[in-house]
Amino acid sequence: MIDLRSDTVTRPSQAMLAAMAAAEVGDDVWGDDPTVLRLQATVAERAGKEAGLFFPSGTQSNLAALMAHCGRGDEYIVGQSAHTYRNEGGGAAVLGSIQPQPITNAADGSLPLDEIAAAIKPIDDHFARTRLLALENTIGGKVLPAGYVADAVALAKGRGLSTHLDGARVCNAAVASGQSIAALCAPFDSVSICFSKGLGAPVGSVLVGSADVVESARRWRKMLGGGMRQSGVLAAACLYALEHNVDRLAEDHENAEHLARGLAEIDEVHVQSWATNMVFAEFPQEQCAALEASLKEQGILTQMLYASRFVTHMDLTRADIDMFVSAVKKHFAG
Ligand SMILES: *Cc1c(COP(=O)(O)O)cnc(C)c1O
Repeated sequence: MIDLRSDTVTRPSQAMLAAMAAAEVGDDVWGDDPTVLRLQATVAERAGKEAGLFFPSGTQSNLAALMAHCGRGDEYIVGQSAHTYRNEGGGAAVLGSIQPQPITNAADGSLPLDEIAAAIKPIDDHFARTRLLALENTIGGKVLPAGYVADAVALAKGRGLSTHLDGARVCNAAVASGQSIAALCAPFDSVSICFSKGLGAPVGSVLVGSADVVESARRWRKMLGGGMRQSGVLAAACLYALEHNVDRLAEDHENAEHLARGLAEIDEVHVQSWATNMVFAEFPQEQCAALEASLKEQGILTQMLYASRFVTHMDLTRADIDMFVSAVKKHFAG
């Protein structure tokens, strides 16, 4: 199968499975799992933070971070298209009693500084207490401009806000921009990093930040049901991914560019943008269902919409991309 729907679809490689099978484990709720402790320390060091905490998912890692920064009746400023606002079931509001204050993302994924400033509420009984600015990098595959991040965080700090980065794909941002993971994480009080996306692990995210934030998040993690036992088998996959699968993300980025250039040759397709491992393209609405079904028959999984997203990852080769592009070409030629 050629699966272009997401970079979450990768299967653990034989070498990763061997590392998982060999993992030394203990009960992590008791703090006894040496592999989890090693993963947390390793990721914290790579991100330039004091401490790390292993989570079963990025959704739970982001939520625990939001709950560590904000209390009941507090508010966080976030992008309309940010994962923590749009794709996490409203967890901050439902489970955290935290009010989101969404702002429309600019085309480059940033939140305009004047709109952040205008959204910060004065201290007044009428208003939720604005406590946190949450950004995402990459967002829609795009790397946030470095100067922008510095300015946004300076603005937040100046107004007494904490800052969180949803860095699910921060490794893609690092490889694409040539900045280190630590440099991309440095401005933020906490960062959530996914291992189940382009890095190819089956499960797992690590939240990094100050010892205080991580300690608070640990309590929320337990309450949210994320305290795991012999989770070293999973942490071993993440350690393997960190060691072997970061630099190779460059290949996924090249394949995304190759895919975008291929689709751009088709008259009926309008490529809107591509960045890191994602391509966004528009297709004639009335053709989408037939095209998706025809691709599926050929072993190619997509989610064909008027505005479609294609994601490259380690289980896709250049030849797979060529096969997809030629199948789309054939569809419109026939
Ligand atoms: C995937 C993702 C997450 C976390 O998702 P889980 O499926 O819960 O691991 C968070 N933020 C972004 C931007 C993501 O792409």
